[in-house]
Amino acid sequence: MEDGSNPTPQDVFSGSFTQQEPIPEEGIAAAIDVMRHGRLHRYNVADGETAEVALLEEEFAEFVGAKYALGVASGGYAMGCALRALEVKAGDKVLSNGFTLAPVPGAIASVGAEPVFVEVSDNLTIDLEDLAVKIASSGSKVLLLSHMRGHLCDMDRLMEICDAADVQVIEDCAHTMGATWGDTPSGQHGVFGCYSCQTYKHLNAGEGGFLTSNDARAMARAIVLSGSYMLYARHKAAPPESEFEQIKWSTPNVSGRMDNLRAAILRPQLRKLPDQIRAWNDRYKAVEEGLRNTPGLTVINRDERGVYVGSSIQFLLPGKSGVEVDNFTARCARRGVELKWFGAAEPRAFTSRYDSWRYVGAQRLPATDRLLGGLIDMRLPLTFSVEDCRLIARIIREEARTSFETTIERSPTAG
Ligand SMILES: *Cc1c(COP(=O)(O)O)cnc(C)c1O
Repeated sequence: MEDGSNPTPQDVFSGSFTQQEPIPEEGIAAAIDVMRHGRLHRYNVADGETAEVALLEEEFAEFVGAKYALGVASGGYAMGCALRALEVKAGDKVLSNGFTLAPVPGAIASVGAEPVFVEVSDNLTIDLEDLAVKIASSGSKVLLLSHMRGHLCDMDRLMEICDAADVQVIEDCAHTMGATWGDTPSGQHGVFGCYSCQTYKHLNAGEGGFLTSNDARAMARAIVLSGSYMLYARHKAAPPESEFEQIKWSTPNVSGRMDNLRAAILRPQLRKLPDQIRAWNDRYKAVEEGLRNTPGLTVINRDERGVYVGSSIQFLLPGKSGVEVDNFTARCARRGVELKWFGAAEPRAFTSRYDSWRYVGAQRLPATDRLLGGLIDMRLPLTFSVEDCRLIARIIREEARTSFETTIERSPTAG
């Protein structure tokens, strides 16, 4: 009910927040070709043929400016494979952000290692001071850095801190495929960049992922780990064969390859990605502009040194109680706007808090708790028009007014 204050009929948004675009026709045709010839396994090639996966790896390496790229089964697999390739062992400690998604601590747990969570700043990036503290207190030599929701920290400073402490960096670029920090593409600061091609990311193969690296030894290990058997010479974006001579004896096979059907679907999407990024950012800016100066709601400013991909948007409801946040998101939901809250005590759908991963020893991150308590997240699929995004922002704004304007009068600290 609207307390009688708003007699005009309200706009409702009817789009789906989980509906992505169709696969480009070119990708469908290429996938049908692969099915017709039947050589779906990446190492199953006819005489003189280069597999779709090997071609895609070459194109992806070029896209992100890496020497080497490896197609794998998922983003989660890419992270686990990177940890194995750096020889992280059971019981080792691995640093990561307190604000991330379940596959990140999951990858650490998959090798028997223990996540050590680092606080997150108000701009949603890893807190570099706390990182230095946790490096010293944990003795960890590996950081699995999650560029969660595409927010990039000061990567120059981060690399200085990590290099000085001999900490190797693996970047989780599930939300930064196509983003850059300064002139450097996201994923190219650390030893490995990890990417996902799951339906809700920037390329859609249903499932899939990539690892990129400039480190020949580490990438040779990753290739053998991914299940190359002794067929690594069929790769293109790979280290020279000599690099495999030693490691082929000592590297286990933990199969997680990409197949030619997925690669066929992905290659035309990769060519379109720069246009898609522009389209995402047009939509992002439409929502961001519509939300600025909304009572009770803080838009998250992005560092100008980073170029982001606006495939989702976040904002804060500082100082609001769980009940207030729930009421507000329920009001938006009634008008078709699906918001996710990262502060909920119970994990819901894709959204969970670090303290809900109970296989990890209990840790306390007071700053991150405060932040997540008011953190709202919204997807921006490209099936939305810019006009749709303006309507979505207007709905959020109106509901924030209704929900929070009285709160602001009561509380001098809010807003
Ligand atoms: C989706 C996602 C991943 C992993 O991707 P999958 O391909 O689903 O395994 C990793 N990190 C973040 C932050 C993600 O959102």
